[in-house]
Amino acid sequence: MDVETIQIPCPTEGCEGDVHAARELDDDGTRWRIVWFEDVPVVLCSRGCRPPEDLVSLIDPEVRAA
Ligand SMILES: [Zn+2]
Repeated sequence: MDVETIQIPCPTEGCEGDVHAARELDDDGTRWRIVWFEDVPVVLCSRGCRPPEDLVSLIDPEVRAA
């Protein structure tokens, strides 16, 4: 399975951190999705501004981009 890590500027207003996330290709191999580990998305802001569950929806468009 293809997994890669991405780093994008944190989308939270006023936060200057970077979001680190792990993504994998879906079963068709056509779209990226966030990797989940034990019911928690592998998404982390370097400043810890929000829990992973909140960040995952904010960065979703970036995750799907090729
Ligand atoms: Zn942040």
